[in-house]
Amino acid sequence: MHTTGRPGTLPTRLATKINGYLPCIRARTAASEDDMRLNENADLDTSQVEDLRGSGGGGGIGGLPIGGRGLTGVIVTVLLALVGGYFGIDTLNGGDPSGQPAAGPGLEQECGSANADRLKQLDCRNLLYINSIQAYWTDELPAAFGTTYEPATTRYFSNQVSTGCGAADSGTGPFYCPADDHVYIDLTFYRLLADQLGAPGEFAQPYVLAHEYGHHVQDLLGTEAEMRREQQRDPDEANHLSVKLELQADCYAGAWANGASDTEGSDGTKLFTSITDSDIQQGLDTASKIGDDTLQQRSGGSVNPAEFTHGTSAQRQQWFRTGYESGDPKSCDTFAAGAVK
Ligand SMILES: [Zn+2]
Repeated sequence: MHTTGRPGTLPTRLATKINGYLPCIRARTAASEDDMRLNENADLDTSQVEDLRGSGGGGGIGGLPIGGRGLTGVIVTVLLALVGGYFGIDTLNGGDPSGQPAAGPGLEQECGSANADRLKQLDCRNLLYINSIQAYWTDELPAAFGTTYEPATTRYFSNQVSTGCGAADSGTGPFYCPADDHVYIDLTFYRLLADQLGAPGEFAQPYVLAHEYGHHVQDLLGTEAEMRREQQRDPDEANHLSVKLELQADCYAGAWANGASDTEGSDGTKLFTSITDSDIQQGLDTASKIGDDTLQQRSGGSVNPAEFTHGTSAQRQQWFRTGYESGDPKSCDTFAAGAVK
């Protein structure tokens, strides 16, 4: 499985992706498989993740009588109306109860430096990504916007979870809840990204997380609340405003990707040993798989721009690239006149 394998198993597919330089890329890819991209000695802050997977189905759904898919669908719809910070994939078949990671020792033990194999594990790698994203914003939010960054924990859940924004299940995909300031993710989502949506690259994972933390940044800056007010003032523009918010989160993810190799753990050691062009290509590949137009086509429907809420594949790539190439979150003003058609 791509999502549970070692990081080194992932870049091989890129050899087929890049035209013209196959031998060269192949050589580089082989080298990068041997290189560590993550710092094995990184000091991970396990307090940034709460693991709800072992607590009886991920926090439960608050005693609501869930009868079947129909009702779950209603709940997901209600949730999305409230949250808006989800990743753009609403697949009610996404929850796969059979594929849950076994509840193991706590993350503190599992992802502590005493465990030499920790970065082979999906949940510890994701912890490292979260540490990096928050380290980036701790420096960058004051620098770019004069605003203090308030950390937000990510909650790993399985199947279902109750949140400050209502109940959700895995079919929602990862999301940020502004009401309780948590990112929520069922890590089996990456399997869906890889197997069903065709985005198996390891870098899809930090891209997803950085997108969700982009929503947290929008919450801290008041962008998210302002957008909600705009939606109420002008309901006809609600989806278009949502697209701008989502593309800005993609751009923030790109800005993080630019700065990621400089981010440090709490002991001052780098979290990544390198971020490569191949990683960035994986981020762009992922963006290309989750545009509204691509997802609409994939679900067998016709492409209907009026229903777009996250932007087209081309737009998602474009804004991730804008953030990455500038390395400056101020370049992510998707709300500027004419920035998003
Ligand atoms: Zn989003």
